[in-house]
Formats: sequence, structure tokens, C-alpha cells
Amino acid sequence: MSRIFALDATVADCRCGHCGAIAALATARVYTRCPGNVFRCTTCGEVLMRLTELPDRMVLDLGGGTALTFRSPPGPA
Ligand SMILES: [Zn+2]
Repeated sequence: MSRIFALDATVADCRCGHCGAIAALATARVYTRCPGNVFRCTTCGEVLMRLTELPDRMVLDLGGGTALTFRSPPGPA
């Protein structure tokens, strides 16, 4: 993921398009024995996204995850 996003995507919250659950992407179940990596929702088990690396490109399919939210770091107090 770090090759695609300048920000750390594992700390982003991902909203599941199937059940509506919102959880840190780092908590998603990741299956690596597929063509590419498949990220599944920990609540309903549906696919949030697929990341496939091909010889000439990387493909990120956000088919099941409807939103990634990156929280701003806390500002000065
Ligand atoms: Zn879900």
C-alpha cells in the first residue's frame, strides 16, 4: 500500500459498502494467496478492496470499500 499512497493507508478508516462498518484498514483480514491481495471486512467478511501487482502496473480495486478516511494528525495544543 505504501507504494500507492503517500500517507500510511493502514491507519485509514475504511467503510464497508456491504454492512456499513467503519474500521481501521489495518484490522481488515488480508488474503495473500489470491491473484493479488484481498482485503475483507472483519464484520461481514465481504471484500473491501483488492490490490494486484502486475509486471507493468498496480491495480487497486475499491469495489467493496466505499470510503477511506485519513485522520489529520493532532495539531498543536
Ligand atoms: Zn462489512
